Amino acid sequence: MTYHAAVFGNPIAQSKSPLIHHNFAKQFGIDLVYVKQQSEMSQFEDDLKRFFTQKNSIGVNVTAPFKENAFNWVSEHTDFAARAGAVNTIIRKPNTDTFIGANSDGLGLIADLAHHQLDLADKSVLLIGAGGAAKGALPAIVGAGVKHISIYNRTKSKAESLIKETQEYASCDLLASIDETKVYDLIINASSASLTQQVPDVPAAIFTNRTVAYDMAYSDKLTPFCQLATDSGCKHALDGLGMLVEQAAVSFECWFNERPKTDDIRKLLRA
Ligand code: NDP
Repeated sequence: MTYHAAVFGNPIAQSKSPLIHHNFAKQFGIDLVYVKQQSEMSQFEDDLKRFFTQKNSIGVNVTAPFKENAFNWVSEHTDFAARAGAVNTIIRKPNTDTFIGANSDGLGLIADLAHHQLDLADKSVLLIGAGGAAKGALPAIVGAGVKHISIYNRTKSKAESLIKETQEYASCDLLASIDETKVYDLIINASSASLTQQVPDVPAAIFTNRTVAYDMAYSDKLTPFCQLATDSGCKHALDGLGMLVEQAAVSFECWFNERPKTDDIRKLLRA
């Protein structure tokens, strides 16, 4: 049987998702056709519906700018998707026309941190940014048992709103600014600054030799954020390529109930 899946986005030409999912499918001998699907805001729902008229269409991934549209389109949400208010994975309930919205970004981040031997239990985290990626990651960061989360965003009111929403389900300490007296174990750049070769306006002193810096953006050279963190003396600087692979693995498991190995595709993409 041939299964069909896709990633919807705009732009989408740059997406590595087909390569990743075909690697995963091969591990289990699954015949999967996974395609990139460019869409427009006004066409997104029709394009999704058309995709799911195909026989054995098992699910789709959704990337910018459609994650909130996908959230509104599905009829059920996982807890993480409900808390994030965004869906990056749509799962078709077997043999039905009912669709579940999940969000694998946060679990992908946590899995990548675990791959780098970073356990978030009782840690202090600074999250930079308050857009879709930050919202997607927060429920999983909270779920990993952190002690403290600070959120810093260029537009402060968005960090404050995100803290307010997070207060509804989190029991850790929460702050809508940077505490310069604090030693952060992990600083995550969930802003899109690296995409324009910029860095968020943060004091260099927040990067200590106990701090792991993590840029959700990725590049074949050091991202500007990883460069700043490295120059400022952080312990390690990691980019988001591992998160990309791990969130795909979580999505694949949602569809096929099998968790793929990620080592080979990580190496391939890095090369
Ligand atoms: P959004 O457009 O939803 O949010 C962008 C955020 O970045 C906002 O908080 C915005 O602040 C902030 N920002 C933008 N430019 C700057 C700047 N120059 N300085 C400081 N802050 C800035 O984007 P997403 O949340 O969807 O994506 C964020 C990043 O995460 C991107 O780099 C994306 O590629 C990456 N990502 C990686 C994934 C992975 O698997 N590795 C998965 C998902 C995302 P303001 O509110 O003030 O506008």
